[in-house]
Amino acid sequence: MANEYDLIVVGAGTGGYVAAIRAAQLGLRTAVVEKQKALGGTCLLWGCIPTKALLEHAHALKVVQHAKDWGISLGQAAATIDMTQVQTRKDRIVAGLTKGVEFLFKKNKIDWIKGTARLAGNGGVDVFEGEKQTLRARQIIVATGSEPRGVPGIDIDRKRIITSDEAIHLRKVPASLVIMGSGAVGVEFGSIFSRFGSDVTVIELLPRLVPVEDEAVSAELEKSFRKQGITCYTGAKVTGARADADGVDIDALLADGQAKQIRADYLLVATGRGPVTAGLNAEGIGLELEKGYVKVDAQYQTNVPGVSAIGDVITVGGAGHPQLAHVSSAEGVIAAERIAGQDVRPINYDHVPGCTYCDPEIGSVGLTEQEATARGYDVRVGVFPFSALGRAKIAGETDGFVKIVAEKKCDELLGVHVIGLRSTELVAEATLALRLESTVEELIRTIHAHPTMAEAIGEAAHAVHGSAIHM
Ligand SMILES: Cc1cc2nc3c(=O)[nH]c(=O)nc-3n(C[C@H](O)[C@H](O)[C@H](O)COP(=O)(O)OP(=O)(O)OC[C@H]3O[C@@H](n4cnc5c(N)ncnc54)[C@H](O)[C@@H]3O)c2cc1C
Repeated sequence: MANEYDLIVVGAGTGGYVAAIRAAQLGLRTAVVEKQKALGGTCLLWGCIPTKALLEHAHALKVVQHAKDWGISLGQAAATIDMTQVQTRKDRIVAGLTKGVEFLFKKNKIDWIKGTARLAGNGGVDVFEGEKQTLRARQIIVATGSEPRGVPGIDIDRKRIITSDEAIHLRKVPASLVIMGSGAVGVEFGSIFSRFGSDVTVIELLPRLVPVEDEAVSAELEKSFRKQGITCYTGAKVTGARADADGVDIDALLADGQAKQIRADYLLVATGRGPVTAGLNAEGIGLELEKGYVKVDAQYQTNVPGVSAIGDVITVGGAGHPQLAHVSSAEGVIAAERIAGQDVRPINYDHVPGCTYCDPEIGSVGLTEQEATARGYDVRVGVFPFSALGRAKIAGETDGFVKIVAEKKCDELLGVHVIGLRSTELVAEATLALRLESTVEELIRTIHAHPTMAEAIGEAAHAVHGSAIHM
């Protein structure tokens, strides 16, 4: 029957659309219900792709601003950024990629059902778009993702007190921007708008920027941000914000107990994202939730037979589940393969790479020195600074380093933390090394081409053994 499927996926983000493609490849008749007018979810429409497009503009502006260093003459003209063109180029990239997902749906014969899904129980999914229609499937994957989370006492009006959903569409460079929260989203927008010319202030409740990273990485980022003129208040709290037509008055309590008032064009609230289950009837069909997240096991099965869940909307129980595009996709592949009857292995969340594309960018995987110590490992570390690396000097980007965290007795690699040029690419080698349970010695014996940024991985491995060559 037309409305009968093997699998219905609710949500076409990086979790849902990847799960659907994998399921279709394995022969399952698959439909995806998506309430937005385009496919791709947060990552394509408001997240990974558009932010990185803006960051690429920021990088281009940086190169032009340093034209003199490259022997390029611009005459007297100062480099400025045209936000209309920035937004147009970003929108073109986004449109191209969402159309690409549409093409993949057609190629894999996946039905895209437009509308908002509501779980009806017993394999039923009601879809509302104008008229209601009911679909049925043997299996359902919930992949409804996440949305910006507010904070008590701060009224997000989406005009002057905004989230990343609004910041990504700003058509004018703000004169001033205060960012609440220094996770990936906060520091990426900080880098974008600081480079574009805004006066940027970051206020972070915890004692350091990018608090999930290794402490040495946080310190390096703060040093670099201050050098770039970004004001950072750590251990500080936004206690109130009042918006008017032209801007926002922000009250903060600084780490030393001092009260601070800041007037800015915008306050960007970047304090995390919460699960999207509103209107889904999750509780109605008996889905077990934990703090609003859909609870799943290591194979992404919920407590309701025939209903799985993946991506930003889930908790795998216990510690925080990483809200990352590549994690949602990896989970989508596993869920689809399990539903298609394949043998699947659980993800090792300790081996998930995390990339933050601020300037300088950060790529990290595995345990930080602090986490490894807390887990009782006899830890030794090796650090190699980019200031000693030929390729970094050539690029004129010598801020940053590679830090390797290892275990002493068996020489086991536990984590790799990179800040600086190409960190988000360098982390791929480290991720594979962790997956293959490499020792530090194996990283030392791996020949790294010269001159590359990747040489710093080999050198940092040497440094763990006290044998760095160029230091
Ligand atoms: C500014 C920003 C930058 C980011 N940058 C990165 C990055 O560089 N790298 C990275 O790995 N991650 C990044 N992320 C995180 C990444 O975007 C998410 O982890 C990822 O999109 C999660 O995918 P998902 O499929 O679980 O959910 P989503 O992408 O949120 O997709 C969920 C989809 O479900 C749809 N939906 C929800 N409810 C219903 C319903 N009832 N019926 C029908 N459809 C529904 C939504 O419309 C949406 O399209 C970023 C996020 C933000 C906000």
